[in-house]
Amino acid sequence: MSNEPPVRVQDKLFYNRYRVDTGRAHIKVRPHGTPSPQLLSLLKACPARCYELNDQGQVEVTIDGCMECGTCRIICEENGDIEWSYPRGGYGVLFKFG
Ligand code: SF4
Repeated sequence: MSNEPPVRVQDKLFYNRYRVDTGRAHIKVRPHGTPSPQLLSLLKACPARCYELNDQGQVEVTIDGCMECGTCRIICEENGDIEWSYPRGGYGVLFKFG
């Protein structure tokens, strides 16, 4: 058994760097009243915790820490809950620090 401390996902994510394209979010949540089950599942499915509930119980996304893994795209793009695209060239996540 190793004496190394366990590696947490949050610690690894710390090494990523992001270049935010201000005002041009590459993921948008469709306006909604009550979120669909698929949309609610993103609160747990997104590894970067980009999805949160607001005070009205609606799902919001903050794309600043997005790793562009595509999980939310697979779950919700087909039913129209979100619009998903890659960031413009030169923006988004940089993995080379991890
Ligand atoms: S692409 Fe991945 S990291 Fe980015 S918001 Fe969707 S689930 Fe989260």
